[in-house]
Amino acid sequence: MRNVKKTTAILSIGIFVGFIIGFFKSGFIEAVGQVTANRYFFYKTYRLAALMFLDPLFKWLLITIIASLVFFLVTWLAEKLSPGLSSKNKKILMTILIGAVFATLFIGVGWTVNRYWIHYTKLHPLSLLADVAILVLLAFFFRLTVKMSGKIQWKALFHRLAEKKHIKTAAIVPVVLLLLLDIGVFLYGKIHVNEGPNVVFIVIDALRQDHLGCYGYGRGTSPNIDALAQEGVIFKNAYSSSPWTKPSVASLFTSLYPNKHKAIDGNHILPEGVLTIAEILKNEGCSTFFLDAGNNYIGKKFNFHQGFDFVFNERINAADLTGKFLSLFPKLQERRFFVYLHYMDVHLPYNKNKYNGLFAQKMRKPLFEPGKISHKDIKRLTLANKLSIEDKEYLVSLYDGQIRFVDENIERIISTLKSNNMLKDTLVVVTSDHGEEFWDHDHFEHGHTLYDELIRVPLVLAGDKLKHSSIKTRVSSVDLLPTVLKKLNVKPNKYKLKGAGLLNKSNRKSDKLESSIFTMGTLRGDEKYGLIYGNKKLIINTRNKKGKPKLIGYRKRSKFEFYDMTRDPLEKENMAENDRKNMSRLKNVLDKFLNNESPFKSKRVIIDKKTKERLKTLGYF
Ligand SMILES: [Zn+2]
Repeated sequence: MRNVKKTTAILSIGIFVGFIIGFFKSGFIEAVGQVTANRYFFYKTYRLAALMFLDPLFKWLLITIIASLVFFLVTWLAEKLSPGLSSKNKKILMTILIGAVFATLFIGVGWTVNRYWIHYTKLHPLSLLADVAILVLLAFFFRLTVKMSGKIQWKALFHRLAEKKHIKTAAIVPVVLLLLLDIGVFLYGKIHVNEGPNVVFIVIDALRQDHLGCYGYGRGTSPNIDALAQEGVIFKNAYSSSPWTKPSVASLFTSLYPNKHKAIDGNHILPEGVLTIAEILKNEGCSTFFLDAGNNYIGKKFNFHQGFDFVFNERINAADLTGKFLSLFPKLQERRFFVYLHYMDVHLPYNKNKYNGLFAQKMRKPLFEPGKISHKDIKRLTLANKLSIEDKEYLVSLYDGQIRFVDENIERIISTLKSNNMLKDTLVVVTSDHGEEFWDHDHFEHGHTLYDELIRVPLVLAGDKLKHSSIKTRVSSVDLLPTVLKKLNVKPNKYKLKGAGLLNKSNRKSDKLESSIFTMGTLRGDEKYGLIYGNKKLIINTRNKKGKPKLIGYRKRSKFEFYDMTRDPLEKENMAENDRKNMSRLKNVLDKFLNNESPFKSKRVIIDKKTKERLKTLGYF
């Protein structure tokens, strides 16, 4: 009887100790931090908050059970061995045990501090300094604990504890509570899921609008996207919020302009406090998949994985990315899903594929070999005026071939949805994050201006029983998220989103292209702000280069650029001096917009070597 009582007491103490360890080591504290940082209670996204605790609660329970068994084993061993040990050996054993606990603590605390607070890589001086500080602090407590442990009469303590009446209750209550919470959270994640369509959201990086058949291009680059546009809704005048990936995709994800979400510069992260499309759709009960063919600017490093259950972020071509989608397809069918696909083939350095020679006359090696083309080389040759017209045409032809390759792979997705009879229940979005300059304004690539070749994007919505229409109203990509939500029968203001749904005609201001389109957030050179209103466009070149790499050799623009988009759609003739009245009208609208936004706090990270290398291959450094 006495033995049973003792065993129960030891197990109870073990459970209690495990419960405490589990609190610290299960990720529960991190989950509280994440739910707070992501403001899930502010947005009332309770399912998301609950799901955040699913894993930590399970781990907590597991740690509690394992710890009680380990504790039992250790005390049993100690009892068996201790009579034969000298007091000196006992002391050594105790020191080793305490040492093991503190070593584990050092790894745990060090990792947490580096991961969540410092954000630096292992060998950064600040990180090493933090590690040394933690080590010194823990060494001090280690010595203190060893000293104190010598003074405690362990055996007597256990006996006294075993006599306590409430020792069992103190152990059982937390375990039962944990179990109930765990089951509760699991069940809560399963009920009240949204009944709307699945969403397949496709972004083709650096695809300019006027290189697709459905936008009037004559080269046959996009038969499948054209067919999709014929069945669904095509927006003829869609604009991205920014001329490069990070701010633009951040706007697609959050329905916020870059001056609000603040993921603008190369080292900015998307703040935790914004609510993303993946978080919203997960809260609506979808499983969420992020499939990115290797643009690291939207990877985990920059916090774009918020709300995604599955994250893939590796440099692969369109065929392999589509393959990834198809291999996940059986899993996707298990429940309502949201898949974000980000194709990189149309972005430098391009990929080798069967369409490389489709529009090009003959290969111009070695500088222009797909997969190896360097933005730096082309920039250098451009500035030295050493690119012939044939060189330039060749690069455009390669670009067009890449579009054809992606187009073919989008068809594989569509036909899979069709053959599984799922297209009618799946909203398909095809768009891009920005365009690409082919010397329209003397230069190449993207991220450096706000001219139309960089901010006009394709936008096609299809599937989900949509009927064909062609919409001429000017629309911004910030309105895409509310549009998707409306198709899922979710009111955008449930998630504090202001943007209008684009499919409801009354939400579009008019078909006379009067909606105001704001665009900003350059990657290189100075920060620029742009506004298109009516048939006019204003660009303010701020001269503020903070946080951005220099643009060497580029023509300096006057502070204000003002274009008449009807008369001068190619934006060649700056009317800032000649049409001051209209310009100041637009400037007022833009100023008001910029002053009206209370932004999220922008946070920067140091880009580690590996990420930098990856970004370099895309021409970013
Ligand atoms: Zn991009």
